[in-house]
Amino acid sequence: MLIDQEKCIGCGICVSYCPMEAISVADKKASINQEMCVECGTCIRPRVVRCPTKAIYEPYEQIKGTPREVRRFFSDPATTHGVTGVPGRGTEEVKTNDVTGRVCRGEIGIAIELGRPCVGTTFAEVEKVTMALAKHHVDYEECNPLTHLMADRVKGTFKEEYKQENVLSAIVEFNGKLEQMAELLETIKETAKKLDTVFSLDLICCFEEDGSIPVLTELERIGMKPRANAKVNLGMGRPYKIIREA
Ligand code: SF4
Ligand code: SF4
Repeated sequence: MLIDQEKCIGCGICVSYCPMEAISVADKKASINQEMCVECGTCIRPRVVRCPTKAIYEPYEQIKGTPREVRRFFSDPATTHGVTGVPGRGTEEVKTNDVTGRVCRGEIGIAIELGRPCVGTTFAEVEKVTMALAKHHVDYEECNPLTHLMADRVKGTFKEEYKQENVLSAIVEFNGKLEQMAELLETIKETAKKLDTVFSLDLICCFEEDGSIPVLTELERIGMKPRANAKVNLGMGRPYKIIREA
């Protein structure tokens, strides 16, 4: 994202809208720190930032096809990822399991959501997690754009050209067996100490036939207390799509 220096009058309206604090005003002109900018598009949404001179613009042709382009896909919810065809961060997310059916009984789905507005993350940070998980022979979610930026899925490494790209947030997703959960969580806990960003951890499983939640039993056993935070999806997406297609 860029600001036309001829048009900008330095009013500062745009500054507080940037989730990465990448916009600043000096000598009555605003400018965008290109390292910090994650190309989230907030500053050019006409109903959000009412720049009086329409000075902010996106020279998309300049970044199209370059490593920087991935910033948009992981930061701007209005974009749809080319590989997965999914808007937002390019994945349906394992937490919508009632729609995607990715995690079966006896399995655990793990999603590690790195970065947040005002913090962000880079793929070099994401790589710290994926490399640490390599010893568990993790199979990364195919329908997640992160997986396609990897150089070596076995080693958990990312392609060199993407490593320093700055994004708002990215989700590492994979499935494991329930019995692997304790060791996977231990690795994630250890890796957290080396991360220069924040992350939240989602654990997904199916109810057992008796109504119990195996993840909770297992977490209790290893002494971890999950935050009481639930999301109820009604699973309307897929049936609605099927009805429409029918
Ligand atoms: S695109 Fe997003 S991160 Fe970049 S300057 Fe605009 S609001 Fe800030
Ligand atoms: S809102 Fe527009 S004119 Fe005002 S500082 Fe930002 S870019 Fe410049």
